[in-house]
Amino acid sequence: MHPPGADTVLVRYGDVGVKSSKVQRDMERALRENLGAMLARRGIDADVTGERTRPRVRVDPEELGRATDAAADVFGIVSASPCSVVEPTINAISEALAASARVDYEEGSFAVRARRAGERDDHPFTSEDLEREGGQAVWDAVPNPEVDLENPDHTYYVECRSEEAFVFTEKRPGPGGLPLGTQRPLVALLSGGIDSPVAAWEVMRRGAPIVPLYFDFEAYGGVDHVARTVESARTLAEYAPNHGFDLRVAPAGAAADRLVETTRETRMLSLRRFMLRVAEGLAREVGAVGIVTGEAIGQKSSQTSVNLATTDPATGLPVHRPLVTRDKQEIIRQAREIGTYEAATIEAGCNRIAPDYPETNATLETVEAAEPDLTPLVEETLSALETVAL
Ligand code: ATP
Ligand code: MG
Repeated sequence: MHPPGADTVLVRYGDVGVKSSKVQRDMERALRENLGAMLARRGIDADVTGERTRPRVRVDPEELGRATDAAADVFGIVSASPCSVVEPTINAISEALAASARVDYEEGSFAVRARRAGERDDHPFTSEDLEREGGQAVWDAVPNPEVDLENPDHTYYVECRSEEAFVFTEKRPGPGGLPLGTQRPLVALLSGGIDSPVAAWEVMRRGAPIVPLYFDFEAYGGVDHVARTVESARTLAEYAPNHGFDLRVAPAGAAADRLVETTRETRMLSLRRFMLRVAEGLAREVGAVGIVTGEAIGQKSSQTSVNLATTDPATGLPVHRPLVTRDKQEIIRQAREIGTYEAATIEAGCNRIAPDYPETNATLETVEAAEPDLTPLVEETLSALETVAL
């Protein structure tokens, strides 16, 4: 429940706040723009301000809940609070606290937590004064009050600045990280499975826009492979309203044919090396500076720590693997949270490229010895890249 009359969403950030002042100013600007774009994308009419202070959103009180949800999906934001803004005086703050308690306090215990931000002598009271007087106001406002400072059922927060004070009851967690667009883009290998969209989301969370690339192995995959990748790319795009992207699709049936003909135990490793080379070619074309995959150590035979060492040398670009240490269950939980899990459950044909006995302990030499010249396959694939608008 929001405090009565609340019309503002206050946002907090983490890593943005520890930057030098110039970088921080740029990041704050990016954060405000991204926040504005997210609100617009969801059809919420709002004002994003905060030139010299922390960003905040002013909206019609009717839209406050949706605006808070929107803010909590913006990269860089650690938490968002729907709040009412009042004069920075003990009276005004106490009144707002009491009003808030009257609408949401029926039973249980409470605490008031106050913080003063700003110059020391801005106000003739301390945060302890605010907590004591504000606590009294809440006490007087409800029928059966009980104070519990350790583990309260209701917490009423006050943040007092020089010019204004914020009263709120909720800190909705956001994704944290850095504002999208404050890093250079990365090519994200998106397979339509569970892992790769989570990996892509993780680098977006660190500020890097993505250029998603899907390999369509044609006869080797199912017809719905493309559909589920499009779905997960669409979900990711919802997090990037002003850094939108299309999905690149690489027709790779012929390349798979060639690898199936020429390789056996090391086939999947050559296939991955092929994918990395195509990704590198695309990255050079679009100005991306690295490649992202959903691999995790030991998740599959091609992802043993030994085998991972045979794939990276295929490209000069860094290969980022945000999920490298994650268990599948953790990845699934996160996929559900960010909304990409659904698409991954769309039925798709099984992958018939894998050999019966894939090598788990390959060396670069054995992979290279078995591998056909990848260059013509890579060039052919790059020239046939398609773009699917989302
Ligand atoms: P996912 O990891 O998305 O669930 P997966 O578990 O089937 O798919 P692998 O097939 O081992 O994983 O692939 C590992 C990584 O390689 C994926 O996370 C993804 O980044 C990339 N990848 C695999 N197949 C494709 C594809 N057809 N197109 C693009 N990238 C792919
Ligand atoms: Mg995987």
